[in-house]
Amino acid sequence: MGVSVSMLASGSRGNCAIVASACTKILVDAGISGRETFKRMKSLGEDPHSLSAILITHEHCDHVYGLATLAKKLRIPVFMTLATQQAWARALRDENGVRPQLEKWERFESGHSFQVGDIAVKPFTIPHDAVDPVGFTFRAEGIKVGIATDLGYLPVSVRDHLRGCDVLVMESNHDVEMLRVGPYPWSVKQRVMSRVGHLSNESLANFFTNDYDNSATFVVLAHLSQENNHPEIARREAEKALAMRGGLFQNRVLLASQSEALTPICL
Ligand SMILES: [Zn+2]
Ligand SMILES: [Zn+2]
Repeated sequence: MGVSVSMLASGSRGNCAIVASACTKILVDAGISGRETFKRMKSLGEDPHSLSAILITHEHCDHVYGLATLAKKLRIPVFMTLATQQAWARALRDENGVRPQLEKWERFESGHSFQVGDIAVKPFTIPHDAVDPVGFTFRAEGIKVGIATDLGYLPVSVRDHLRGCDVLVMESNHDVEMLRVGPYPWSVKQRVMSRVGHLSNESLANFFTNDYDNSATFVVLAHLSQENNHPEIARREAEKALAMRGGLFQNRVLLASQSEALTPICL
């Protein structure tokens, strides 16, 4: 049956994806409500109760908004680092300081692989302003999937992890010029542009031109800013960069959307 990747939602209002093999189904981030996650899975013909586990990249709201509800409803293991779990629980304290509990919390550490069913997961550190943010690669049935969003730049270590991916989900957050002249206050612009902010179309294009190994059959542009980017600009920049390397025909470029699930990518 192979491996599939379904982008349920992507952007600053919520991120959620599924990486699945024939017998294991992993939800990567839970940034939309439980109800919306169920709805989008059903729109793809997927049963939410068939999920095996939830993996969390970092504690920002657009990655954990639906986590408490989903964990409670599905009663499946939730994989997070210790620091991320603590930050998440701290943010959800009630008025008496009581923190929410996860029934099945599985702790992982960045840099250390672990297994979920027949999928081998490798979390790696990314530069972002969260307590312990990670990207992931997934391997099953000879297929490798890489997910790297919410990162200010692409350090050599991250580039190394992303080699050999058959599906590459990359942040293409903003167009630098649109961000510069756009509506955000200067402090926010600085945050987004910083080394621990978000990856621009230009930085991603730079990676494609100079460092990318042309291995992916599908490249998914993700976490696009609604204010400071336009899907067609992001696509054009990525395709131009891939074409420069002669790799456009090997790499199909797809755009993940905030408002609806993308047709699953199957390999
Ligand atoms: Zn985010
Ligand atoms: Zn974030």
